[in-house]
Amino acid sequence: MVSDQPPASAGSGLRAELRFLKGVGPRRAAELERAGMRTSDDLLHRFPLRYEDRSRLVRSSDLRAGEAAAIRGSVVSTGLRQTRRRGFSLFEMLLRDDAGTFRAVWMNQPYLKTAFSPGQRLQLYGTPEWRDPGGLRLSNPQYELLGDDDGDGDRAAEAGTADRDDPGSLHGARVVPVYERIGTLTAKQLRALVYRALERLPADLDDPLPADLRARRRLPGRRLALREAHFPPPGAPLPLLNRFRTPAQARLILEELFLFRLGLEVRGQARTRERKPHAVRVDDRIRRSALEVLPFRLTPGQKAGLRTIVGDLCRPHPMNRLLQGDVGCGKTIVALLAALVALENGLQVAFMAPTELLAEQHFLTLRPLLARSRFRVVSLTGSQGAKARRETLSALAAGDAHLAVGTHALVQPSVAFRALGLAIIDEQHRFGVRQRATLREKGRRPDVLVMTATPIPRSLALTAYGDLDVSVIRDRPPGRTPVDTRIEPESRREAVHALVERELRAGKQAYVVYPLVDESEKVDLKAAAVMVDALSRRFPAHAVDVLHGRMRPDEREAVMARFARGDVHVLAATTVVEVGVDVPGATVMVVEHAERFGLAQLHQLRGRVGRAPGRAWCRLLYREPLSDAGRARLEAVAGTSDGFELAERDLELRGPGEVLGTRQSGLPALRLANLVRDRDLMEIARDEAERALREGVAADLLGRLDAGWVERFGLAGVG
Ligand code: ADP
Ligand code: MG
Repeated sequence: MVSDQPPASAGSGLRAELRFLKGVGPRRAAELERAGMRTSDDLLHRFPLRYEDRSRLVRSSDLRAGEAAAIRGSVVSTGLRQTRRRGFSLFEMLLRDDAGTFRAVWMNQPYLKTAFSPGQRLQLYGTPEWRDPGGLRLSNPQYELLGDDDGDGDRAAEAGTADRDDPGSLHGARVVPVYERIGTLTAKQLRALVYRALERLPADLDDPLPADLRARRRLPGRRLALREAHFPPPGAPLPLLNRFRTPAQARLILEELFLFRLGLEVRGQARTRERKPHAVRVDDRIRRSALEVLPFRLTPGQKAGLRTIVGDLCRPHPMNRLLQGDVGCGKTIVALLAALVALENGLQVAFMAPTELLAEQHFLTLRPLLARSRFRVVSLTGSQGAKARRETLSALAAGDAHLAVGTHALVQPSVAFRALGLAIIDEQHRFGVRQRATLREKGRRPDVLVMTATPIPRSLALTAYGDLDVSVIRDRPPGRTPVDTRIEPESRREAVHALVERELRAGKQAYVVYPLVDESEKVDLKAAAVMVDALSRRFPAHAVDVLHGRMRPDEREAVMARFARGDVHVLAATTVVEVGVDVPGATVMVVEHAERFGLAQLHQLRGRVGRAPGRAWCRLLYREPLSDAGRARLEAVAGTSDGFELAERDLELRGPGEVLGTRQSGLPALRLANLVRDRDLMEIARDEAERALREGVAADLLGRLDAGWVERFGLAGVG
């Protein structure tokens, strides 16, 4: 490199600290650091937001309204104008090129007045618009002062110091990267900074991707990829760039995903070398006992899931499996049968659910099923009395209680098991990674089964649950027809209520769900009271009751139990009814203010009905006006009963962080990859990671990486 050498302390290559870069003072260094950028590595592993083609230099006579263009000219005159609207200013400029004159205006940037003077040569980039009066003008174009040496039309002042590798004008007549601002650093300043960081990369920059992988997938080397991802070579196709699929971009994304997957694979492999202190066997006696428990025939999906799980239980290393299945597919019974296998092998089982309601429901389902067995089922929730709790705790510690069903109360420090062999976690997305780990630590390397009814698209599962084995139940118990789902404006509420009434007359039950009105207790209580009132008046012949978040758990349970028994016909509820609740007699779900719910939530709510053979209905009432996006979401729910398909839509509409609940989800902090955009690359990354593992080069590859990645990928325990 011809350019000035960095000071020795700056480090070179990707580890070079940004604060030693030219143009970065202490203040900018601090701003960058706050945005998580300390080194060139940080800066260069952040893609531009988008790319703009400024290479198409046009003459003033060729400017067209609506067509983005780069144009050069010299300043003829400038002026600052206050408009009629107070506090609003226009900075206007007249420029000339060899085809004539053209105009540019900047809104509310009066300081520009001091920045320009007649005679200066500029390059502007923007989209001309037609104004009447006034004609064609560039509004708020990006601008760049041209130096003396750009007479050939291709060199910007700022790049004047660059070496022979200079990619041409940084900001000007080329495809330029547009970065998101960081603090006070503008896109333009960042562009210059990125360029300087690239300049410092040594020619022999280390490449973490094995050469044979690069050859197989036709990927450029790392140094070239970094360079071209930021400063695309002339002729790079803009659409491909903006889809982040040029070879350079794809290579960098793949590198990140590959290393992430590789870490997961290595950790997974290490897990298979762990040994459980207990052994599980399945014999005819256990099979018979399972058959006795079973209240119905399993669906093929349930059978397959169970077979896999039992297979895991019998293996010497701990199970770490996710059982995925849409609402109502019947995961509980599968979990119970797995539990039974563990119980029959003399082990204790913990079954953790996210809410008191759900824990109670599981308890009420599981206890009778095991009533004739020799196993004792206990429940452990936060609302238990101290005495009952103490008794339960000592029974678990002594091994006198065998199956503990409960909420996160199960992971309290006071809870100890004599021989916890299997931990089951229902609706696992509701729990944090830490709670999962804590429950696991209650045993000595117990098997872990987590379940979720939030169908996770495969691409996400590969990442979010990268180190879990995944089983999916795709079918449903026999006789289930899709819930008839429609979206209706509020003005149609009466028609919807007529449907409810018809079902009530037929001896069925209904839910009416309201969004949480307010976080404050008062408002919420009032809203709950108002809705019960209205519903009671509308359905005078039927029992209406209410379930809301402000009720004590025991009150809630009492209401739920009455609804489950059929003593309550219409249950007005806020979202507490969302997860897992199972009342087969309910056939109608009415959701008020459906526009306020997420896709997955609506699907969950709908899943509360249609849990027995026969027809069921879901009516999503929305308040007008409904935004286009809002309508699209509701129509997506009405349009499919397939939770996986909806999850894909949700992912597109809201992004993975929202879908899985950001922090808790254990999603890795990927810098370049985007889980929605880059699914195709995720599959390739997984294939390549598996291959590297088979070929025995994985540990070596990971060993060569800088320390930071383990933490970034949340992969502590590897390497
Ligand atoms: P989820 O997978 O959403 O947790 P559940 O385990 O709560 O679903 O099951 C939903 C309902 O379907 C329950 O009432 C359950 O008893 C019933 N069920 C589950 N499996 C079957 C089956 N194979 N045949 C008939 N009913 C079933
Ligand atoms: Mg469930």
